[in-house]
Amino acid sequence: MTALWDSALRTIQEKIAEPNYEMWLRPIECLDVNESNITLRAPNPYVRLWFESNYLPVILGEIHEQTGINFDVSFSEDASPESPDLPKAEVVYPTAPPAAEAIPQSYASQRAEGSDRVTSIGAAERPHLNPKYTFDAFVSGPSNQLARAAAEAAANHYPPKYNPIFICGGVGLGKTHLMHAVATRVLETRPDSHIVYITGEQFMNAYVQAIRSNEMQQFRDKFRNKCDLLLVDDVQFLAGKGGTQDEFFHTFNALHDSHRQIVVTADRKPFEIADIADRLRSRFAWGLMADVDTPELEVRVAILRKKAQSEGITLTDDIAMYIASNVHSNIRELEGALIRLAAFASLSNTPITLEFAEKTLAGSMAKPMGKVTIEGILKAVAQYYNVKTVELKSTKRHKSIAGPRAVAMYLARTHTNMSYPDLGRAFGGKHHTTIMSAVEKIEKKLIADLRIRSEVQSIESTLFR
Ligand code: ADP
Ligand code: MG
Repeated sequence: MTALWDSALRTIQEKIAEPNYEMWLRPIECLDVNESNITLRAPNPYVRLWFESNYLPVILGEIHEQTGINFDVSFSEDASPESPDLPKAEVVYPTAPPAAEAIPQSYASQRAEGSDRVTSIGAAERPHLNPKYTFDAFVSGPSNQLARAAAEAAANHYPPKYNPIFICGGVGLGKTHLMHAVATRVLETRPDSHIVYITGEQFMNAYVQAIRSNEMQQFRDKFRNKCDLLLVDDVQFLAGKGGTQDEFFHTFNALHDSHRQIVVTADRKPFEIADIADRLRSRFAWGLMADVDTPELEVRVAILRKKAQSEGITLTDDIAMYIASNVHSNIRELEGALIRLAAFASLSNTPITLEFAEKTLAGSMAKPMGKVTIEGILKAVAQYYNVKTVELKSTKRHKSIAGPRAVAMYLARTHTNMSYPDLGRAFGGKHHTTIMSAVEKIEKKLIADLRIRSEVQSIESTLFR
């Protein structure tokens, strides 16, 4: 059965640079695959962490493509023989998984057999709750206080005080973390609740599947009748998906009317989500909206300290400061830098000194200028506005294309070293003055138009991820 793993790995291998493959994927052993669970072993906790956060989702995606199955993954805790004294593998999951009998039947029955690390709660796709994403582990500061308070309110008030709660902000700023924290808290305090945690994308897939297999009744039962708390992560995915939006709208109303809490997250504010029905947009604004912003330096340092502590990594103040002052845009990246540092230190058997940190992280922190490409920009802009990259290069005048095109031109001019004539060519052979006036127009708008400013910031945050 491990052949399945091997074949997914081979497909991925072609897409990953050789040294990365050797360092992070080759050392992972696949011990067992049964119908719902894959058991892996990593040589040490750092390789495991890095692997989990960077490669595992892609591999699972690949396996899902091949088999249609969403596997759970557990890691065997026995350290391999080569690394007998690596620090505390068990710290990786500091929170013990709940004992089987403590889990209400409705959840227990949906848990994959043998997968005792993850609690699946309801959705057909069996989403996982990350045991590390708790309120305790969430560091607050001015950038995310309101979002945290909103999430706590969702978890603590029943019937809901604010409904819905809409949490928005750029990538890697803690939205998913807060969602999991809400679910975990509710499971602790009101274990009989039926919670559905699902991403916008999974909601759509479940809906399409339900139509296909003629199971709308079950679908509605699950999302409307049997659901006490609905958590929908990355709801912006529903943009442009009319049918799914309709279904979601009715789900929303049913839950809202019967005073059940709804929490959604998105990478932007409701009014910035293009292609979403106005009636849904206005529903989102009914309750409490809270945003997460990039955290202040002190908060970044505190997050690093906390993370280091929970992973058993020794981190001195000067190094925490060094990392935090060099990585600002998002917390996932901040954690990534820490884990990479710990991984390299453990693999090369070196203590983490400031010099070592500078050397190890230098490459990844020499940011972004040269690294952002025109292709990357076109792709990010196209994705954000839900248009095609060829349209960005076309001469179509329609507002829905011309607007995004101007933003792409502005970003290309700002973040690459290309000249105006170069840019003209890159945008499908336009005159350089066309680019210049687009750039100027956006520059002006950025001063006065909040909406454009936040759109541009969101796109930038994906570019520099
Ligand atoms: P988003 O869903 O907004 O893209 P995530 O919730 O996935 O972001 O967060 C990315 C990573 O950063 C996660 O590992 C999360 O635990 C961590 N993180 C984000 N915000 C905080 C915070 N305030 N305190 C501690 N960790 C955080
Ligand atoms: Mg998220």
